[in-house]
Amino acid sequence: MTISAPSGIISDDLLCELAQHVGTDQLLSSQDELLVYECDGYVVEKNVPDVVVFPQSAAEIQAVVKSCVRHGVPFVPRGAGTSLAGGCLPVGGGVMISLTRMKQILEINTRDRYAVVQPGLVNLHLTRALAGTGFHYAPDPSSQGACTIGGNVATNSGGPHTLKYGVTVNHVTGVEFVSPTGELVQIGGPCGCGDDLDLPGLFVGSEGTFGIVTKIWVKLTRNPESCRTMLAVFDSTDDTSQAISSIIGAGIVPAALEMMDQGIITALEEAFAFGFPLDAAAVLLIEVDGLDVALDQEAETIITLCKQSGAREVRLSQTEEERALLWKCRKQAFGAIGRLAPSYCTQDGVVPRTKLPQILKFIADVGERCNIRIVNVFHAGDGNLHPILLFDERDREQVRRVMDASDEILEMCIELGGSVTGEHGIGVEKISFMNRLFSEQDLDVMGDVRRVFNPDGICSPGKLLPTAGACGMEHIQREHPGRRAAM
Ligand SMILES: Cc1cc2nc3c(=O)[nH]c(=O)nc-3n(C[C@H](O)[C@H](O)[C@H](O)COP(=O)(O)OP(=O)(O)OC[C@H]3O[C@@H](n4cnc5c(N)ncnc54)[C@H](O)[C@@H]3O)c2cc1C
Repeated sequence: MTISAPSGIISDDLLCELAQHVGTDQLLSSQDELLVYECDGYVVEKNVPDVVVFPQSAAEIQAVVKSCVRHGVPFVPRGAGTSLAGGCLPVGGGVMISLTRMKQILEINTRDRYAVVQPGLVNLHLTRALAGTGFHYAPDPSSQGACTIGGNVATNSGGPHTLKYGVTVNHVTGVEFVSPTGELVQIGGPCGCGDDLDLPGLFVGSEGTFGIVTKIWVKLTRNPESCRTMLAVFDSTDDTSQAISSIIGAGIVPAALEMMDQGIITALEEAFAFGFPLDAAAVLLIEVDGLDVALDQEAETIITLCKQSGAREVRLSQTEEERALLWKCRKQAFGAIGRLAPSYCTQDGVVPRTKLPQILKFIADVGERCNIRIVNVFHAGDGNLHPILLFDERDREQVRRVMDASDEILEMCIELGGSVTGEHGIGVEKISFMNRLFSEQDLDVMGDVRRVFNPDGICSPGKLLPTAGACGMEHIQREHPGRRAAM
């Protein structure tokens, strides 16, 4: 691997230091290689980092961070780059610290029900490693075959099964990280923090602005004895939303309650021919799990409630193969979208469940008004919407309309009593909404907390909070004048 002449804000000295810390074969600095890292899953805003390093230990990360601090150069951690909010965008350039080569499982302890992993471990690989032990790692983002547990910690990821099992913060008891000033710090451990302040709880969801995670202690969850998985087919999205409210209202907490609308069903059928009814307005994927003895009754109640709400058909999977196929449909949904448009922007709003019919109608209206096709696949059980806006990023006018439509949808989520993120985080994408969600005092407190960890704002600048460390955002604003000012 050749080291190219440094560009932008990286001096020759810094480049040499970085190469010494990680090795020349663990560093990228040529423009064509850096291009791969210009964005994550949020493709609307792009900026190429000046250097990407691939450290293989906490000590190497410490050395990299200390060099960056000494040279006053910002740095940003990156896992698999599946963030849908631009969390990995190197705002203002600088050094990207890729964690993908720190992917070991350091310990599995089923007696005490925890595992210790490195941050670059792919989420699904932990559950695969646990096969046969009777345990699994519960947070299961739909991207779990690619995203890393470090990225999950940073964004406090959810997933289909978090309706019952909770999000990442409910499953992390300890974090080791390199602070933005280069110290190695451990908060919590296998048993959490005991009676002390729940610092891992504070750290999870800080979107890479509190430091670089180097080790994670996660809880292991016992596999349920059994489960029942159903697919309910509806002729209207109102009826689908009604069914969701009825199921939750009946006191049932399904392990998963996922909705896919007609646009997604069509895309899935075109791509994989799973056998979904093409004329359905929406389908619900519902799973209940627990003690086998209770599940038939629970499934029966759900089928009745769906039918009372207007479901034309409810299929109960009869075999593990049928269940796996239903889940494959859900998890392949994003892949299928690739057939519909060159680019997509996945929004991530939340509304109270009872407002689902209202927001789904609003999304359809916005799509029509802005002339942007929008399809929906989402974690309906917790009111966590994922309208997916389809477009071609090469057409600036379409990008502008996507941004306008996204803003309208998120504004409406706030108006309906919800929020602008359920699980993808704020990143750079939604920073302008923070002023609308929180008061100035709230944001000041959050800024104060961040300064404790990241006093100079040098770690992941321009993310999450519209206050300190927004260097470089001006560039993005110029590129996308349609976007609201973040400051
Ligand atoms: C098809 C698809 C489906 C998805 N489904 C879901 C879903 O169901 N639920 C969900 O919550 N999200 C989902 N996402 C979003 C995304 O996968 C998650 O946010 C995931 O946690 C990101 O992990 P990553 O390894 O890709 O992190 P990245 O995208 O690389 O980074 C995300 C953020 O974490 C920070 N970060 C990464 N590693 C570290 C580290 N070691 N230390 C400190 N900060 C770090 C980055 O700076 C960035 O701010 C989906 C994305 C896609 C593309």
